[in-house]
Amino acid sequence: MFKRKINQESKASERLIPEGLVDVLNVIDAEYLILAAGEVVLHSSHGTTALSLVRDGRLISEPLVNLVRAARRSGVYQEATIELPRGPIGEGTHDLLVRVTPAGYQGLIIALIFDDSELRRLDSIRRDFVANISHELKTPIGALSILSEAVLGASDDPEAIVKFASRMQIEAKRLSDLVQEIINLSRLQDDDPLKNAKVLNLKDLISEAIDSSRLSAEAREISIICSSPEGVNVLGDRSQVEMAISNLIENAINYSPNGTRVAITLRAVDNLAEISISDQGLGIPEKDLERIFERFYRVDPARSRATGGTGLGLSIVKHVVTNHGGDISVWSVEGSGSTFTIRLPMYLIPDDINETNMLDAVEASQ
Ligand code: ADP
Repeated sequence: MFKRKINQESKASERLIPEGLVDVLNVIDAEYLILAAGEVVLHSSHGTTALSLVRDGRLISEPLVNLVRAARRSGVYQEATIELPRGPIGEGTHDLLVRVTPAGYQGLIIALIFDDSELRRLDSIRRDFVANISHELKTPIGALSILSEAVLGASDDPEAIVKFASRMQIEAKRLSDLVQEIINLSRLQDDDPLKNAKVLNLKDLISEAIDSSRLSAEAREISIICSSPEGVNVLGDRSQVEMAISNLIENAINYSPNGTRVAITLRAVDNLAEISISDQGLGIPEKDLERIFERFYRVDPARSRATGGTGLGLSIVKHVVTNHGGDISVWSVEGSGSTFTIRLPMYLIPDDINETNMLDAVEASQ
């Protein structure tokens, strides 16, 4: 992949770099840094800035600085994996494999950086998913097989046939919801949302998510109120962020008694976009709060099954916000209600872009 864009460097520092070295580095599929003494960055590939490894021409990642110093001291090639946060908050990380070697010329050090996050992420997702999914699929499939036997055995009892066939429909719907959620999850795994991120207007996304839940809210006489200011934007994948907000609204409806209220609030706090979804529902016992984001964890499996839950919704939400460099938290009191809050790094308009350009950028990216 010859995609590399190069960061600017001064003419003076360019003279220190042997001819041809940058050309060689540009054909390696890795980010790179060429460093002089004092960990001054003489030359770097573009992605090192996005990974927040370099600021104002200096290496700022402590583990990487240590590795470079070890290579300089020992004169020997060093290799390590390092973890860097994806954003200012949240648990998302970049897992980087870093190879550092003295260039053997003017004390220069070369660091090659391979981003392993994607591979590791996929691997761990695949492992726990396969373990859980077989169990979850077996339940409705087993029920369908028992019910079909019951239908066969009740050929002379039309009432029993109707009863068993209706149960079969419910189990078939559960199976199809589960498959849909599995498709949603596998889409999330397909790619890193920050690699092809677009500017997303959260006010619009929230109102679309509310529209898609309108019918189920009306059926339960649950009113949805929303307060969302204009101008709160984030960078990310539109369908993923909308899916996350919709899942939280659907849960607020599903786990609340009829005639209650769901409130959605969007706020900008310290350069973070904060979306809260509050309900007046069942609430969640304290002992379960830690676990509800795990795949297939349900507080009350019977209630979740009755509302058509798959046990995957919150794990999908957590996945989406983590991949967007954000986080999710929950506050809940059993019997009173719950508030789920997701925070995402805000997309801040650069100083030199005026409002008209910004609106154009938002529109173009949608
Ligand atoms: P499900 O498909 O079962 O709703 P989720 O992953 O969306 O799965 O949620 C996991 C569990 O967390 C649910 O089964 C439910 O017990 C609990 N839960 C989620 N949202 C709420 C809420 N707003 N109020 C009460 N309990 C909730």
